[in-house]
Amino acid sequence: MRFPLALTAKIARHIIKHKVARTPKFALVLQLEPLHTCNLTCTGCGRIREYSTSLKDMMSLEDCLQSAVECEAPMVSICGGEPLIYPKIEELIAGILEQGRIVYVCTNGMFMRKKMRDYLAATYSAGSEATLQKLLAEKLITEKDAETIRKGKNDGRPVIRPTKWMYWNVHVDGLEYTHDLIVEREGVFKECVEAIRMAKALGYQVATNTTVYKETDVQELENMFEFFSSMEVDGHTISPGYDYDSAKKDMVKRLGRQPEDFFLTRAMTRAKFAKIQEWGERFTIFGTPVYQEFLAGKRELTCTAWAIPTRNVKGWKAPCYLMTDGHYGGYQEMLQKVNWEKYGVVDGVARDPRCENCMVHCGYDPSGALGTNYKRGDNWKNFRYNFAAKPKPDPRGKLVKAFNGVSIGKGHLAEAKAAINSPRAAANGAQSVFFRREESAPAVSGGGCSTGDSSERDNLLAKIQQAKDSQH
Ligand code: SF4
Ligand code: SF4
Repeated sequence: MRFPLALTAKIARHIIKHKVARTPKFALVLQLEPLHTCNLTCTGCGRIREYSTSLKDMMSLEDCLQSAVECEAPMVSICGGEPLIYPKIEELIAGILEQGRIVYVCTNGMFMRKKMRDYLAATYSAGSEATLQKLLAEKLITEKDAETIRKGKNDGRPVIRPTKWMYWNVHVDGLEYTHDLIVEREGVFKECVEAIRMAKALGYQVATNTTVYKETDVQELENMFEFFSSMEVDGHTISPGYDYDSAKKDMVKRLGRQPEDFFLTRAMTRAKFAKIQEWGERFTIFGTPVYQEFLAGKRELTCTAWAIPTRNVKGWKAPCYLMTDGHYGGYQEMLQKVNWEKYGVVDGVARDPRCENCMVHCGYDPSGALGTNYKRGDNWKNFRYNFAAKPKPDPRGKLVKAFNGVSIGKGHLAEAKAAINSPRAAANGAQSVFFRREESAPAVSGGGCSTGDSSERDNLLAKIQQAKDSQH
């Protein structure tokens, strides 16, 4: 099975319960953002702009747990910001698991190994030595780490343990060169890979989480799936990027270019996702086949953003994870007060211009599961996809040159910075992105992993290319 039986059954029961009760709108997945603080400052992070004034604020543990109870979603995706920075992340994960929900920890991967070392320390016994030796041999922990683990951990706090009810959901937007460029730090991809290897060695479930942008090379994506599949990663979430309207207007006004020069339009998304169904057969792609058909341009779906609500320090964010027209005090209040008819794209016509090019999973994946725009055979299609044998690890992944950046001595961020900081590039105004980052980015910044805001990232990549072209 692509998704474990117990988890599938839990979600199916939840949907059937609400269908029988004829509940008009209900939550399937809660996107919980306990904080917006982050250790990285990714170019494409939408949260940095939107919540820049509340980066230091956090939801209380009680509020976080209560939010899950309130919306009753069977699945909670803990994101942010970087959720592993949340001081009570262990208590939060344990609390949501105790509520009987499935947990996804959406992380940039940088603190995963630390959290897993804590787990090893808390459970250390003489019998753990074989595992420690294996991790040492694979250079996933150091001798010093092993010594610390052997001392144990008895502070009375929970640790993040492997369980079939939890997934690490690691943000990777490409192979080393691309991913490090996007997150603006060399070495992040390598750390993600090591964290994933360690997680798999310890029996955790791991998924990857990828956003597709205008510049995303489809072949690279396929190679990335092959690579992670060969590491026996348990699944992949993939979604097209979303372009904020304000950024779009800014690009048009300031640079006099058409939106399609920079942004992923619906037509472009469909082209990028043309092979999604083939990938769904080869790799464990999470999401329904109905949503995959939508991404590939084979059908229309209606947005059901209310099924994946976002709760953060400001309240319940409406209408969706990406767009903010308001925050509400409660999930039911949000459901009642928001005019949902104003949003989404129906039969190719955007009800709100900001929705025009949106095909993101948080708006449309639940539509496939909930039977919105139902077509005969959809249920069988969804059932068959989930219950079919899980695709085997792809042997081609072993041949993929995943470490094509800093690991082979290519200081790619330096190259990128040099390109856009060159005098000619400066004359073109290309210095702005890195300049702004270096001058004004706080040591600790914030945002939501793979929020899909491609505006700054596209801007940056376009300028790097422009600067390189002008140098030749
Ligand atoms: S179409 Fe996209 S941007 Fe519009 S409400 Fe739905 S999820 Fe949000
Ligand atoms: S996308 Fe945002 S939250 Fe995620 S790692 Fe980057 S800066 Fe942090």
